[in-house]
Amino acid sequence: MSRNKNDIQDLDWSIRYPENWREISWKCRESTNFKCCLCGDKATQTHHALYTYRDGKVIADFRGIGSYLFPLCDDCHKIAHHPFNYRKDSKNPVLGNKNSPRFYKLLRDGWLKTRKIQKKFSNVM
Ligand SMILES: [Zn+2]
Repeated sequence: MSRNKNDIQDLDWSIRYPENWREISWKCRESTNFKCCLCGDKATQTHHALYTYRDGKVIADFRGIGSYLFPLCDDCHKIAHHPFNYRKDSKNPVLGNKNSPRFYKLLRDGWLKTRKIQKKFSNVM
């Protein structure tokens, strides 16, 4: 079996995830008290709405939480990657893919709202 140099499997996908990704992902899900920011179910995954900041730096730190990284449940994570909501960049498949502006707004607004609800709830308890 021959493999082309540009074969997608030869790309370095690991640059999407820093060494402390597990910690970042945990903090991201903790930011909404482990609620999915779209539907309120248990957040099991951290979604990248994009992979790089405007300056091209890889989003691999805590600043990304709530701005480009969002806690989602399994089902909403699938929806987030549906072609209707997600744009693939064939020239840069590792770092160029991102959500549509419309879906990004849903994520961002959902995160703000979910966070607020969780904060209010913890004040009452
Ligand atoms: Zn969900």
